[in-house]
Order: sequence, then structure tokens, then C-alpha cells
Amino acid sequence: TSCEQEKADIKEPLTNDSYTPSEVDAVEDTIKIGFLMGTLLEERWQKDRDFFKKSIENLGAKVEVMSADGDDALQIWQAETLISQGVDLLVIIPQNAESAAAIVEKAHAAGIKVLSYDRLVKNAEVDMYVSYDNEKVGELQAAAVTELVPKGKFAYIGGAEIDNNAHLIKKGVFRVLQPLIDNEDITVVFDQWSKDWLPENARANIELALDANNNQIDAIIAANDATAGAVIEVLEERGLAGEIPVTGQDADLAAARRIVAGEQTMTVYKPIKKLTETAAELAVKLAKGEELEIDLKINNGKVEVPTVLLSPIAVDQTNLNETIIADGFHSKEEVYQLE
Ligand code: BGC
Repeated sequence: TSCEQEKADIKEPLTNDSYTPSEVDAVEDTIKIGFLMGTLLEERWQKDRDFFKKSIENLGAKVEVMSADGDDALQIWQAETLISQGVDLLVIIPQNAESAAAIVEKAHAAGIKVLSYDRLVKNAEVDMYVSYDNEKVGELQAAAVTELVPKGKFAYIGGAEIDNNAHLIKKGVFRVLQPLIDNEDITVVFDQWSKDWLPENARANIELALDANNNQIDAIIAANDATAGAVIEVLEERGLAGEIPVTGQDADLAAARRIVAGEQTMTVYKPIKKLTETAAELAVKLAKGEELEIDLKINNGKVEVPTVLLSPIAVDQTNLNETIIADGFHSKEEVYQLE
């Protein structure tokens, strides 16, 4: 009947006329990577997210991104979600180096490998680790300030105690400071972690440090640009900005501007694109079950983790242009606020 004909006509648009069996197979074969991020708070992580997504897609794979917004329990729940969705591999930036071990165990129980990205998961059978040389980050920070201030009172404003990177950075800092401490050129008058890397906790730290020393501090080593920003805000309030060298890390736009303004001494630039490309390539290979030859191994308390470490770069007023600007990490207009 015409009525049946009509129904058939109406139905037709619902069918997928581009359907071919081979395309469906291709879709099913596509590698799917779960990307578990600890936080998106610092500017860099947004670049990590965007570049990683692009890198994975350029390799013909797919990625599902989740951010735990600084909540380690939420990160475990997000991992369970991705595992149950059947991802082929997890790439994780652990919010908490220790508690994320549970994620590695759950993934392995489901036959899914885990790549630790930027931050190392401790005490778990992590399959691979890709990061920057974080001890080197600390060495670059300490080297920059000790060159300006070879003698005096130093304050150390650390990162999050639950982040393995914060420990590695601190190790690098003190490797440079220790000989100067030993020969009594330098005294470290303050040394604290900034809980969860939060600027408000760094602020409380530097206020304590300055109060306890009548503002008589000669150099401040802050672990990243977010904590440096909080430190410099307090220095501004006390009329001390630009008087006391302050380090940072990440090459945040705000930090690059503070360097131009002479308020922050240096930052440590980690070209994020390189990290995402390296991690994406290794992740897809691992997901496909390829055997990878990686010479460097780092012990995470449980196993020797095959590791790739990229090199961080110290950036100050003298080389801003040929590093972060030349790389397009930030534009000249943005950094020098030309418009
Ligand atoms: C990263 C830094 C970042 C910090 C806070 C560290 O693990 O290496 O680049 O600033 O976490 O998110």
C-alpha cells in the first residue's frame, strides 16, 4: 500500500548508507587510549591535553580525556570508568603518586598497560614512563639563583608532596645548594612543600618565611610558575618585587611576562609538544603490543620502569625570544603585551 511505501520512505534516512563492512572493522580496530589527567589548573596541562589529543589522532588512534581536578579518589573512579569502557591503554598523570598504584593494578587485571606521563606512579608495575628530567629542572633553578646570589638566606617553596616530581625537583635544587650550604655561604631559612601545588598554599608559605625573617631573604626558589606567581604577589604587597630573585617552571604566559617585567628571574621551559608526541607514539606502540627497546630504567619502588626523559631548558630575559617565542609556545605579542 501507499501507506507502507510512505513508512519505508520515512525510515530510509535512518539507515547508514555509507555503511561498508570494512569501515566497521576499521572502527573496531582503532586503538583507544585513555588519558587520565591529575589537574588542568596550571596553563601547561591545557597544552598537554590539546597536543596529546592531536598527536594520538595523527597516529590514527583515539583518545578519551578525563581530568581529576586535583582529586585523587576521583582519578581512581575515572580510571575504572575508562577501563570498563574498554580502552586499550591508559596514559596517566597521577594526582597522587602512591594512591595511583591502585589504578595500575586495576588496569593490569583487565589486561591494559599503563604509561606514566610527566609524573611517575610509585610502587606499581608501571609499563613505561615519559617525562622531562625533573632533577635537572631543580638544578637549573638553583644554578640560576646561586649565580645571582652566591651567598645569603634562601627560601625553598616546594611543590606537592604527593607528586614524585616535586621530590625530584627538590633533589636537583639541593644537589646544587648543598656545597654552598656546607661551606656556609648559603643558609636555607625556609623549606616547605606547597600542598597540592596550590598558589594559596605557596602564598601562606612565603608569608611565613618572610615574617620569620623580617623580610630579609635573599633568594626564593619556587618549584613552578604558579607558586612563583603567589610568591611574587606577596613580594609586591611588601614592596619587594624585583628585589629578590625568584625561580619558576613551566613557562606560563604570566611567568614570561613577569620575567620581562623583571619580577621573576627565570622559568624552566619544557616543550610540551615534544612530550606529547613522544608519549603518544610510545602509547600507541605499547597498545598494539609492540616490544619497545628502552635503555633507561627508573626504579619506582617496585619495578625498573622503562623511561624516556626529555631535556628542560632554563629561560630568562636573555633567551626568551629564541626559546618559548621561537617555538611558538607563546607569541611575542602575548609575552611583550604588544597590542
Ligand atoms: C609538573 C609541573 C607542574 C606541576 C603542577 C608537576 O608534576 O611537572 O610542570 O607545574 O606538576 O601541576
